[in-house]
Formats: sequence, structure tokens, C-alpha cells
Amino acid sequence: MLHKMLYCSVFLIVLGGLDSVQAHPSDQSKGDPSHDNSQPHLPMDYDFHDSSRAYPAPLPAGDGHFWWKGNLHTHTLWSDGDQFPEVVAKWYVEHGYHFLAISDHNIIQEGEKWVNPKKSYYTNRPGIQNAGGMAVYERYQKQFDKQWIETRLTSNNVLEIRLKPLNEFRHLFEIPGRFMLVQSEELTSAGIHLNATNIKELSPFQEGKTPEQTISLNIDAIYEQRKRTGRPMVPHLNHPNFPTSIQHALTAEDFMAVENLAFFEVYNGHPDAYNFGGPDRISLERMWDIILTKRLAELNLGILFGLAVDDAHQYGNYWPEDHIAIAPGRGWIVYRSRYLTPESLIHAMEAGEFYASTGVTLQHLKTSNGGIELEIKPEENTKYTIEFIGTRRGYDPSSEPILDAEGNPRAELTKRYSDDIGQVLATAQGTRARYEFQGDEIYVRARITSSNLHPNPYIPNERQKAWIQPVVPPAP
Ligand SMILES: [Zn+2]
Ligand SMILES: [Zn+2]
Repeated sequence: MLHKMLYCSVFLIVLGGLDSVQAHPSDQSKGDPSHDNSQPHLPMDYDFHDSSRAYPAPLPAGDGHFWWKGNLHTHTLWSDGDQFPEVVAKWYVEHGYHFLAISDHNIIQEGEKWVNPKKSYYTNRPGIQNAGGMAVYERYQKQFDKQWIETRLTSNNVLEIRLKPLNEFRHLFEIPGRFMLVQSEELTSAGIHLNATNIKELSPFQEGKTPEQTISLNIDAIYEQRKRTGRPMVPHLNHPNFPTSIQHALTAEDFMAVENLAFFEVYNGHPDAYNFGGPDRISLERMWDIILTKRLAELNLGILFGLAVDDAHQYGNYWPEDHIAIAPGRGWIVYRSRYLTPESLIHAMEAGEFYASTGVTLQHLKTSNGGIELEIKPEENTKYTIEFIGTRRGYDPSSEPILDAEGNPRAELTKRYSDDIGQVLATAQGTRARYEFQGDEIYVRARITSSNLHPNPYIPNERQKAWIQPVVPPAP
């Protein structure tokens, strides 16, 4: 009897709650089918549930495994991105990603934070019309319900909007086996940036005396947090050729010997990332080959894996035509695992069970003691060049500094190394290739270049690519 009475009173409270919602429909809901009162009241436009691109099933990868696609580097209004985090998460859902790590500068998306949209980072920047500011708030209001959005007026009558912490908005988007959000942070100083994927607590940036020491200190702090909390997390080094000021870009020598470093961005979608090199700067792939060779053959250190990421900051359509926005959708990784969980992502990354891409999709990838074989998922009217790249034993290990006009070494530039390093060992045209280890390779990796231009390039005329992770052949 008591049980029944309790049940009734709970039932009445629920009915009361529903009545109060129906008695005060928001102005926004009038005439809007997504706010039809016969449907559960949702805080957002859920149209993307019907979109053919949202929440795709992953491609099978054999043995009950799947290929999961995601971006590990993104910004929102929690730091210098130009949109609310829900708008950013929605973009990635709508574009068919399986996961997204949100990595704002020196902050994790926890606690209380309010923003004045008129004072957001991109407001009133020279040459840019209507960026940030109220346009951002209007877009937020178009996509999310009035009751979902939290606003307040300060004592000076200034409108502020609350930024939702990750744990408050993730439930709007996540579906098991279809999409997950991952907590991250971009540990940021003037010259060095590192991401910490699946971080649990904020990791304050630590300055060392040299770039090598700074990178090492911050990486050690992430691994220390991992040990202390028991939560798998990985650091990676971001965009070594950034920023524009060459004095602050990193050289291969700055980070090749960092013991705990296992991941770096070989491609970053920011227009200032100089992925393919720039004035005096070598490409990030060349840097990768130099570092792999030195680590594996001389320094007795582990493999450095290469990531492709967006580093997106700008999601609006308000940029002038000649401005290459720091836009989403440029670079990602695809990992192979049974599961879509942060732990599976980290473990797959650490096992090298992933590739980096700017548009090329694989349907088969197998490495064994004999070699590497791969098959591309072809697109119509597209040609593919597959290159296997590596360094053979017996290479010339010498290097020379780049000199200025007076003959002084330029310490801000990576030294010049032999062409023995990072040779193209074999090339194939088509959608399938197999490389047999010859027995004298220190490592072998693969690069696929598509004949298709990137639809959203970080520099003009960029071709779509994929980077297969380096493999160390068994000792002969
Ligand atoms: Zn950065
Ligand atoms: Zn960034």
C-alpha cells in the first residue's frame, strides 16, 4: 500500500512537470516542427538524425574490428574558437565523424564560464566582416532551444551566455558505437603546443629551459596524471612548423630525443601550419623521417606516430573569400578497434593501429613480419599513388647546419641531412599495394596521394592524402 501511494505521488509530480512545460511553450517553438508538443521536448534541432552523413556505421576492418574516424584537435569559445561547444560538436556529427576531442587552450570544459559574445576572440578583427560577436549567438539560437541556452545580464547590463561544460552537453550527441566526445586540452605557451587526449584534470603548461626540456616536462606531467588517475590518456606534439614567426617554430633536433614522445601532428589544418614546408622550413614529413631514423637507429628510442588533425577555430560563413578560414574538416585519424571508447582509441593509437588522412579512406591495412599490404576504398574517377618510404641501414648519419649570409649557423632551422634518410623505397599506382621487407630497412611507412583536390584545403591545390604509420621490420 505504501509502495502504491509513493508510486502515485511520483506519477503526479511527473504529470505536473509536463503540464508546466506545455503551459509555457517558448516563442521559438511556434510553427517549428522540431518543437511539436507531440514529440519529446529536445533542446536542439535534431534534424541531423535523418541526414545520411550523420552517425554512419563504421567500415568493417576484419576480425570484428571497425575503422573509427575522428578529429583530435578542436577549439570552441572555451578558448579562441568562434562557436559554442554544442555548435562545434554538431558540425562533426553532421559530417560523419565517429569521435571528436575538444582541445581548448590551457582549459578543460569544466566549471562555470560565461562569455560576452561581443567580446569573443574573433570579434572586430581587421578585414573580417561580422566574425564572432552576435552572429555567433544568433547561430547558437538557431540551432538550440531557448530554454537550453543560459543567459544573464551583468550589473552593467551586459548580456553574457554560459558555456556548457562537456558533461552537460555530451549527452545530446553521443550514441554508443556511433559518436563519442573526448575530453582534451591544448597545453599552450608562446612557442610550444601539446594536446592531451582524454585528459582528466587540467595540466598547467610548464616551461623548461629549452624546447626539448619544455616538451619533456609537459609530456611527463600527462603520463604522471595517467598513472595517478588510472585513466588512459596520450599527449601529442602539435604543428611543429607553427607559428608564422620562424624564431618559434620547432626544429627536428628540438624534439627528436624526447623520450616519452610518441605522437606528433604531421598534418594540421591551420593555414599557418606549414605542413608541406615553407620559407626555409622543411616539410613535416621530412622532419618525421629524420626523427624516425635518429630515434630508431641512433638514440635507441621508440617510434614517432603521425597524426592529421583539424585544429579548427572558425565555423562561421562570414569570412571574406580570400581568407582561408581555420575551418573544420581538413585532417583526421582513423583507428582500428572493436570499440568506440576513449580507452580503445588510446590503445589503438599506442599500438599504431591507425592512419592519418585528409581524404583517402582505407579498407584494408595489414602489417606483418613480411611487410605491409593495403587497399584503398576507391572513389570514382580517382587515381592513387602509393609510396613506401623509409631509411635503410648503412645510411649517412651526418648533418650540417643551415648557414646565414655571414656563414653563421641558423639554430632556428632543422639541419640538413642526407638524402639516404626517408627514401621512397617503392611506388605503386592503383588501389592496392604490398611492400615486402628487404631486411635492411630501419622503418617503413606509406603515403597515399589521391588525384583529387582537397575540397576544403589548408593551402590552395592541396591533394587528398593518407599516411600509414611507420613499421619497424623484424631484425634480420
Ligand atoms: Zn596550437
Ligand atoms: Zn589548437
